Amino acid sequence: MSRRTKLYEGKAKILYEGPEPGTLIQYFKDDATAFNAEKKGTIAGKGVINNRISEHVFTRLAHIGIPTHFIRRLNMREQLIRQVDIIPLEVVVRNVAAGSLCKRLGLEEGEPLPHTLIEYYYKDDALGDPLVAEEHIACFNWCSHEEMHDISSMAIRINDFLCGMFAAIDIRLIDFKLEFGRIYDGDYSRVILADEISPDGCRLWDMTTGEKLDKDRFRRDLGGEEEAYREVARRLGLLNGDDNSPGEVFDLSHHRSRLRPPPPIKK
Ligand code: UDP
Repeated sequence: MSRRTKLYEGKAKILYEGPEPGTLIQYFKDDATAFNAEKKGTIAGKGVINNRISEHVFTRLAHIGIPTHFIRRLNMREQLIRQVDIIPLEVVVRNVAAGSLCKRLGLEEGEPLPHTLIEYYYKDDALGDPLVAEEHIACFNWCSHEEMHDISSMAIRINDFLCGMFAAIDIRLIDFKLEFGRIYDGDYSRVILADEISPDGCRLWDMTTGEKLDKDRFRRDLGGEEEAYREVARRLGLLNGDDNSPGEVFDLSHHRSRLRPPPPIKK
């Protein structure tokens, strides 16, 4: 492999300099963290699965007109992306009460929300990514009023699309996290979807059994996280070489006996 410049290493991904100006290579690791990195571990094969799931989701979102940083997948763990200035917000979209929302407001996990909720968290590990109001975003100029408008309308469209996409494979989209970035064109800039969309940043529950098919398995020590991530990819049709991808992208032959029949997953 040619030597290249590492620009940033995060909890689950590494960014390298891309082959052309304005591009980066995003590498997906198997490392998993939770509770602001207080809990650390690895989920075997997660990087490969998340690379593939995120490629699939970003490609489909592009088809409905959502601008994204994704250019193309390069190999099992890497994708070529557009370089953006990350807006320092984690945009969380919620359909059903879970996680920190339940803790904060004393709600029962699994309670459907009266309507979709968008929350903003200021991206700062040292502060533990605090929840912020739109007033804070405006006050500290983390993004402009127009950018906020674009972000919230894209978040709603993405949620509508993803709810349908997951419902079609018997998965309930509880909540998820998005990140956006700016790209510049002369004096103008626009906001595009960045980062990744995968079971690392979504809560995905089986529609019938309520089984968790996401990172909560790792957060809550439920076990079966590798199988859960693969199950999402399998239901999306990404393990069998469909979706225009070569089947050998996933050499999971050594996992097949464990996949069929699937191991019991604790609720
Ligand atoms: N989330 C994420 N990264 C974070 C925090 C949250 O991807 O740093 C995702 C998380 O997977 C869930 C949603 O955002 O799908 C809402 O998370 P929540 O605020 O409930 O926090 P958590 O319970 O994960 O601490």
